[in-house]
This record gives sequence, C-alpha cells and structure tokens, in this order.
Amino acid sequence: MPKRDLIIALLVSWGIVSAAAVGLCVAPYAVDSQTLHGIFPPCPQLAKTGHPCPVCGMTRAFIAIAAGDPDAARRYNSFSIALYDLFLANAALFGLVLSTVYRRRFHINAAAKKTLSPK
Ligand SMILES: [Zn+2]
Repeated sequence: MPKRDLIIALLVSWGIVSAAAVGLCVAPYAVDSQTLHGIFPPCPQLAKTGHPCPVCGMTRAFIAIAAGDPDAARRYNSFSIALYDLFLANAALFGLVLSTVYRRRFHINAAAKKTLSPK
C-alpha cells in the first residue's frame, strides 16, 4: 500500500472513531436519558457474573456530566470524566491534524498551479 493511501486510511479510521467518541459525549445533551439507556442496554458481564466491567456505569456517568454533576459521574464510573476529556481532546487533535493536512495539501496544490501556469 502506498504511503499516501495508508495515511488516508488512518485519517479516515481516526475520523470515524473520533466522530463516534464525540457522539457519545454529545448524545446526553441531545437525547433524553431513557432513550440512551434503551440504546445502551445493561451490561451483559454484570448480568452474567455480578461483577462490573471497566465501562459499567458510563452511560449514567456521561448523562451526569452533561447535567453538570461531576460528583455523580465519578460515583457511576471513576474513569468517566477522564474518558470524556480524552474523547474531546482526541477530537480536537484530530481536527487540528486534519486541518494541517488539508492546509498543507492546498498549499502544495497552489504552489504547483503557480509553477505550472503560463505567464
Ligand atoms: Zn459493564
């Protein structure tokens, strides 16, 4: 696979993951909590073993973050605020990288047009 195609594939993959992560952060603002609990069903590991998995309580925690209640978010899942911040920081970094790539490409294209255009 040529290097350019690999970079494009990585950017597209990163963009899809980033969009999904931002969607998880924004969903509690846009959708009521009952609908969210319907979308994200109870944890199968918790139901099967009685032991919570690392993301147990994350739906309730993200709803609490959206409601401005970080203490409740920490009670539901102690990693929720760090994960929420990581999702948003990742999205910001992705946006920065994407804009840099496009700016560089446009700059290269503009330079090529200037070089190739008749005088
Ligand atoms: Zn779980």
